[in-house]
This record gives sequence, C-alpha cells and structure tokens, in this order.
Amino acid sequence: METVRGNPGTAGVVGRYAPSPTGAMHLGNARTALLAWLHARAPGGRHLLRFEDLDTGRVRPWAYDLIRRDLEWLGLDWDAESVQSRQLDRYREAAARLDTYPCTCTRREVLAAVQDSAGAPHGAEPVYPGTCRDPAARHPERPAALRWRVPDARVCARDRLSGQTLCQDLRADVGDLVLRRNDGVYAYHLAVVVDDAAAGVTDVLRGADLWTATPRQVALQAALGVPTPRYLHVPLMTDYRGERLAKRGGAPPVSALREAGESAAGVRAQLARSLGWAVPDEVEAADLLPLWRAALEGTPVRLAGG
Ligand code: GLU
Repeated sequence: METVRGNPGTAGVVGRYAPSPTGAMHLGNARTALLAWLHARAPGGRHLLRFEDLDTGRVRPWAYDLIRRDLEWLGLDWDAESVQSRQLDRYREAAARLDTYPCTCTRREVLAAVQDSAGAPHGAEPVYPGTCRDPAARHPERPAALRWRVPDARVCARDRLSGQTLCQDLRADVGDLVLRRNDGVYAYHLAVVVDDAAAGVTDVLRGADLWTATPRQVALQAALGVPTPRYLHVPLMTDYRGERLAKRGGAPPVSALREAGESAAGVRAQLARSLGWAVPDEVEAADLLPLWRAALEGTPVRLAGG
C-alpha cells in the first residue's frame, strides 16, 4: 500500500472563498469568508470568489448577488470570480482521466449492503462496498452514476492551523467515490479539486466540517497530478447553546443585519470577538490583518468556536 502526502507549493499565496449559493449568508458563513480573506490578504496574496452551484436543485438564483453584496459590504474584496456551473467541461475531462465505472446501485441498495456486511461502521458514513465494480451486478436499464475506483492506498492530509494529520485508508474508510451522480451532477469533491488546481489556489481556508473529507481530496489531487494546497480548517460558529449556525436553523442573515441598519464595522467586530480577539466596537477588515498574522504564528492556532 502506498502513502500519498500533500506537497504544498511555496509560490505566492492564492486563497479563495467558495460559497454554495443555496441561501443567504449568515454570520457563520461571514466569519469563514472573513478568515479566508484575511489569510489571503495578510501575505499580500490573491483572493478568489467561487460559487459552488453544481447541485442545481439546491441553488437559489438570488443568492449569488446577495452574497456578492454581503461580501462587499463587509469589505472583503476579491480579484476574480468563477462559477462552477459554467465549468462542466473541466469536470468531464478530469473524470475521464480517472479509473471509473458506471454504478447503478440505489442509495437503498448501498445501505442494505453496508448493513449486511460484517464490517459495518458505527456512526461513520457508509462506505460503498464496490458492488458495481463487477459489470454483471450493474443494471443497464437504470441511470448510472460514475464512481472512481479508489487506489489501494493510505492518504494523509495535514491541517496547518491545528497541526493535525488525518490519514484514511481509501478502500476501507472512504470507498469508491461518486464523481458524477446519476442525474448528471458532478460531485463537489471532484469540482473543488479541479477548480482549486485550475486557479492555482495555494491555501484552502474553510469550515472544519470539511476536514474529514480532505484526505479524499488529496487522493484526487494525487491521481490527477495536481498540487495539494495548504489546508486550514476553522471552527464553525456556534450559537449560545453551542450549536452550529445553519441557514436552516434561523441564523441571522448578514443581509438582515445590513437592512436593519447595523454597521459593517460593528458586524466585523462581532465576528472578531467571536474568535476570541479583543477589538473595539467597530473595526475595518484591514485592522484585523495583524491579528490573523499573530494567530498564525501561534502553533497550534487557537480560535474560539463561539
Ligand atoms: N462550498 C462549500 C461550502 O459552502 C465550501 C467548499 C470548500 O471551501 O472547499 O460549504
């Protein structure tokens, strides 16, 4: 079994914020956006905005402009913008370079096969047992998803903020990944890897919910022969009950604060304080750059989750 490791480049920093336009930005999204901006701008790097809108059923057409306006209002500028739904050729080409097979298993069949197998994980995501690796098991009359036959390898990802390394056995812990769903939608893991590479992204700062998905993205980078960026996973903002803020959970949208007459400087201060930073009641985005630089110098970096 080979071990694949990330190998970040040392060129100038290129960062990005990659929202899914599925609704209004709430304060938690804004905090991740602020940190991604600070991380790219602190060393004088480029910062990109990418709309991750492949899952068209969940996209809200009004969300693109609202997110742009919220970011502008917060003073978080970007150098270039891209939209995933306009890059489908890229994902098709990348998928064609990987060892894949059509999969006609339904979600129910996958779950049943996982539950029947002795090694069913408890609480972990179900690992596809590879049923359709055998062409005889496929149903040609059904629409097919496209799965990547993952290599027999152990893959490790490193987080620059926590200093943690997470290793996963691709076959046992991840399973053959869906690259394109049976309704034709390309998978997030493929798109994110292809787009970060195409844009020359060196540093991926994003929510901690994506940390456990990072090794499979590193594996895709290795298989596609593209560099692995540095990863920085930041805590998700929680409410007073310690629960993660969510679009569906009634977290206040940034646009509602703006429309209610709150100042952007005040909202930035609120976000900074939620990270444990001592700031005045009103701050400019640029005022936070030294605080981010100082945070990065501490290892491991401590950021409050609240
Ligand atoms: N689009 C993802 C989200 O909104 C972020 C993906 C990423 O940063 O890699 O949660």
